[in-house]
Amino acid sequence: PAAPLYADLAGDCQVSFEFFPPKSEKMEAQLWSAIETLTPLAPKFVSVTYGAGGSTRERTHNTVARIAQETPLAAAAHLTCVGASKAEIGEIADAYWDAGVRHIVALRGDPPEVGGTFEPHPDGYKGAAELVEGLIKRHPFEISVSAYPEVHPEAASAQSDLDNLKRKLDAGAIRAITQFFFTPDAYFRFLDKTLAAGITANIVPGIMPVSNFAATQRMAAMCNTQVPSWMARLFEGLDDHPASRQLVSATIAAELCQKLYTGGVRDFHFYTLNRSELSFAICHLLGLRAKATADA
Ligand code: FAD
Repeated sequence: PAAPLYADLAGDCQVSFEFFPPKSEKMEAQLWSAIETLTPLAPKFVSVTYGAGGSTRERTHNTVARIAQETPLAAAAHLTCVGASKAEIGEIADAYWDAGVRHIVALRGDPPEVGGTFEPHPDGYKGAAELVEGLIKRHPFEISVSAYPEVHPEAASAQSDLDNLKRKLDAGAIRAITQFFFTPDAYFRFLDKTLAAGITANIVPGIMPVSNFAATQRMAAMCNTQVPSWMARLFEGLDDHPASRQLVSATIAAELCQKLYTGGVRDFHFYTLNRSELSFAICHLLGLRAKATADA
C-alpha cells in the first residue's frame, strides 16, 4: 500500500520508551525531564536498562521503582543473567515485585568487558530463555524479550537464533522488542520468518533515533545492524550543525516508522537515550498527541 501522509495518521499506535539509569545528578535531571515530556503520550510502558555485567543493579532498581511510584506509567525493568546466581536473580525479582513492578525485560546480557564472551555464572542461568522460565516461576511477571531481525552476532545461524526466540516466547514471554535496525525490509523479512515458525507474539520494532552518527556506526557494527550507505551521506557535513542534525535524524527515523506503519506495524519501542525531543517529534508525526490535549 502507498504510505499515508503524516497528516492522515490517526494516532492509532502504541509506543514504549527505553531509558538508562542516570549516573549523576545532571543526568538524573535530564532523565526526569524526558519522562515528564513523554508521559502525556501515554506510553504502553517505559523500561530502564541494566548495565553490562549487572553494573547498575541498584540504579536500575531505584529508577524503575521511582517511575512506578511517582508517575502514572507502567515501569519495566531490564534484567540480565550476567554475573549472578539464580538465587541472586530471585532476590532482585522479589524486590521488583515488592516495589509494584510487574514487567521485566529478560535478557542474557553481555559481559562487562567489550568484546568478551558470555560465561554463565556457575549457579546461574545460561541464557534469556532459562531466565524467563525462572522469573515466571517466581512471580507472574509480564515478560518481554529481545529479537534480532539481522541475527544476533553470536548466533550459529539465523535459524538457531529464531529457534531461541521461540524458546523464550514458549517459556512465557509475551512480546519481543527488536534490536535497532535501519532497513524496514530486514524487519519485514524477519517478521515473515517468525510467522512461518508459528510465532504469534508481537515483535515490536526498536527504533533508534540517531543523534551521533559515528557512535551509532560503532554500536551497529557490534550488534550486526546494517547501516545503509545513504545514511552516511545524509549525516555528511553535519558534525558542527547539531540542530540540523536533529532535524535529519528525526526525518530518517520518522520515515522508517512511516514505512513500518504502512506495513501494518502499530507498536513502536523507542531507544530514547534519555532525551525526549526526537522520540516526541517522531511520535507526533505518527499522529500521537498529549493525552490531556486530546481529551480537551
Ligand atoms: P539470548 O536470547 O539468550 O541469546 C544469546 C545468544 O545465544 C544468541 O546468539 C542466541 O541465538 C544464542 N542461543 C541461545 N540459546 C541457544 C541454544 N540453546 N542453542 C544455540 N544458541 C543459543 N544488554 C544489557 O546488558 N542490558 C540491557 O538492559 C539490555 N537491554 C536490551 C534490550 C533490547 C530490546 C535488546 C534487543 C538488547 C538488549 N541488551 C541489553 C543486549 C543483550 O543483552 C545482548 O544482545 C546479549 O548479547 C544477548 O542477550 P539476549 O537476551 O538477546 O540473549
